[in-house]
Amino acid sequence: MPELPEVETVRQGLIPVLEGRRLVQVTARRPDLRRPLPPDFSARLEGERIIRVGRRAKYLLVETESGPVLIVHLGMSGRMVLGSGEDRRPFGKHDHVIFITDKGARIVFNDPRRFGLMTFAEKDQLGAHPLLSGIGPEPLGNEFHLDHLQKGLKRRKTNMKAALLDQKLVAGLGNIYVAEALFRAGIDPQRKTQKISRKQLERLVFSIQNVLRDAIAAGGSSLRDYAHIDGELGYFQHCFQVYARENRPCMKAGCKGTIKRIIQSGRSSFYCPVCQR
Ligand SMILES: [Zn+2]
Repeated sequence: MPELPEVETVRQGLIPVLEGRRLVQVTARRPDLRRPLPPDFSARLEGERIIRVGRRAKYLLVETESGPVLIVHLGMSGRMVLGSGEDRRPFGKHDHVIFITDKGARIVFNDPRRFGLMTFAEKDQLGAHPLLSGIGPEPLGNEFHLDHLQKGLKRRKTNMKAALLDQKLVAGLGNIYVAEALFRAGIDPQRKTQKISRKQLERLVFSIQNVLRDAIAAGGSSLRDYAHIDGELGYFQHCFQVYARENRPCMKAGCKGTIKRIIQSGRSSFYCPVCQR
């Protein structure tokens, strides 16, 4: 499932084909994704010039010049596939929405599991949109810092894993990057939120930011190759240190631990019981 770095990579891949371009054709090949598409979906986008492709948490925000902002969520399996508008090959059954620009670029939204979402927000009411209004600070923005994290954790009587998955505390983290950030910070995902020292939290803020920056950089380097592979944006080879590494040796220098998998609130957590306390 795409988390913040994957969505950011998709955004960076879309910028050169969308920003400044006009949408000449928008085709929805079915009326719904996770939810119905707006009834005037194509009509409101066709003819519009895209002025900015932004992102908030895991949402892409495609801003048009005089129309609405298109909010896109990739869901579990959604991807954007770049190609040429001249391509006459038939679409696959999971190719749900097709955008063609005035420069002849084609962007296909493909989503086998169909948990993705596309909807509109009016530009001046974007922040108040129900999908966006309750989301906490961007982890790489100025509002995410030690005091915010400490205050937020104090109020949450839960474990560290559950707290960091809470989008109201910090935006954009999912199962993978929570595991990786807690590993880098040396914090056990089962630790109670109220029992973490300020020093550990300080390390956690850096760990969250660094793990995301590293992943975004890895996504960026995958983008430089994408045209030579298959034109798919957003999924790239990672090297995770704990995620999906059950029973394998801990990668921290000098640690003799073995990565363990446990279930927390129905989802897998991976951690090293030796160096994560
Ligand atoms: Zn370890």
